[in-house]
Amino acid sequence: MTASATLGRENWRGREFRMTINGELVAAASGEWDDSIDPFTGTPWAKIPVANDSDVDRAVGAAHSAFTGGAWAGMPGKTRAKLMRNLAERIDAHAQELSYIESIDNGKLLREMSGQMAGLPEWYYFFAGMADKLNGETIGDDRAYLKYTQRQPVGVVASITPWNSPLLLLAFKLAPALAAGCTVVAKPAEQASASTLAFAALFEEAGFPPGVFNVIAGPGAVGARLVADRRVSKVAFTGSTATGIRVAHGAADHLASVSLELGGKSPHIVFADAVRADRAAVVNGVLAGIFAATGQTCVAGARLFVEESVHDELVDALAARATTIRLGDPLVSDTEMGPIAFEAHMEKVLGYIDAGVDAGAEVAAGGKRPDSPELANGYFVEPTVLSRVNNTMAVAREEIFGPVLSVIPFTDESTMLAEANDSEYGLAAGVWTNDIRRAHRVAAKLDVGTVWVNSYRALAYDTPFAGRKMSGLGVENGLDTMREYTQLKSVWVELTGKTRDPFSLG
Ligand code: NAD
Repeated sequence: MTASATLGRENWRGREFRMTINGELVAAASGEWDDSIDPFTGTPWAKIPVANDSDVDRAVGAAHSAFTGGAWAGMPGKTRAKLMRNLAERIDAHAQELSYIESIDNGKLLREMSGQMAGLPEWYYFFAGMADKLNGETIGDDRAYLKYTQRQPVGVVASITPWNSPLLLLAFKLAPALAAGCTVVAKPAEQASASTLAFAALFEEAGFPPGVFNVIAGPGAVGARLVADRRVSKVAFTGSTATGIRVAHGAADHLASVSLELGGKSPHIVFADAVRADRAAVVNGVLAGIFAATGQTCVAGARLFVEESVHDELVDALAARATTIRLGDPLVSDTEMGPIAFEAHMEKVLGYIDAGVDAGAEVAAGGKRPDSPELANGYFVEPTVLSRVNNTMAVAREEIFGPVLSVIPFTDESTMLAEANDSEYGLAAGVWTNDIRRAHRVAAKLDVGTVWVNSYRALAYDTPFAGRKMSGLGVENGLDTMREYTQLKSVWVELTGKTRDPFSLG
């Protein structure tokens, strides 16, 4: 294991990360490289290949041959499971290195990325346990036929991911796909590809056959080319709703199935009783919901509904803590919030804050880039609390994907629920209350895929994660996700030996 002191920025500067196609580390066929920018320094830190059509073609070809040749799907499930467990061990051994790469690449705290890397092997261990349990069933008690189903892998899977948690969001797709016997071509986001490119090298160490996992890099057009390839049977996508819709159209052209984990504008609901019982816990939960990861998480609790009787008190407490959040280098252990991942995104976040103020919201904390000269090169935005927002403003309706909390007061539970559900998104929600009946009642009525009660932003390999409405299609994590990577076959075996009328069905 490399010592952490040698893993900082100097260790990587100018490093060329290569793609993996059919088990080989390769540069782009065109020889083209792109700079990956470190959002803390605002300067290039690594070089990333830019794939062209021939790279996409070779990667899908490798995955297709590995699938149809049986090198992976034909391997006994328990052997696949063993290789997946080897992979989990390799991830564990390289966790520190991968954490640094992600943190330098997307500006999220090393603390958070280290936590994600420490948890990552669990996805591969959990789904390795499924590789030899892809059971079908026998159907009914028909005396004329023995009927049974087989659960078989769908084929080549295209995994397309965003920049905010590259290896975690890949694991949501890759671990069940491998367990099912699928082969995979991954296309990480152009802003943060390095960790996925580095991760691919672990497959050879773990003993996987070549072609089972391939990684190509490049902008959205490379993803679109991948989706369009008719040898791809399934597209597992995480990213924005607008791109997800384009991906679904592309996949529909050749009837590939899709799972889409898209954007959100999640309501975070605080009842007065929770604030009276433990205000500090509520403040921590709300801050973690919006400022962790600089607000760049799909589940960010971006719309805070607060019961009117505690509204001012809670906004004051949130604003007081928000203004003391330590901004800084994501690699430094006491930094609490890092930069936005890239410059254009920072400008978009600042634009939303201005639009909120123009629409009548009040700035209770933050609202601009920080003044500190040490932060001037990085893409920082202050942790921002906008109060007196209403649910019709753009800051309450559109995904900002940054550190901006929009606070909306409420007096009545059912009116608040109608507003909370009045969103095109339906990804997640949080509810703070000590009233157990109300907690369950509200959780049942929220039109979202995940509800946290008296906590926020917990995720695990064994618990389904699924967006509703414009937040997505399909399920990631939990046993149900295995259905996304498998298809059923029905087998009918005639048992009677009697000659049948050839012109009647059945
Ligand atoms: P994005 O949609 O711009 O890009 C995501 C990926 O799609 C990138 O790899 C990109 O290169 C690729 N892509 C772009 N155009 C494409 C096309 N036409 N065909 C195929 N691929 C294409 O998203 P982003 O800005 O990188 O990420 C932020 C978004 O991701 C936010 O909306 C966020 O909510 C969402 N997200 C959702 C979840 C979830 O689980 N629901 C998790 C994390 C992030």
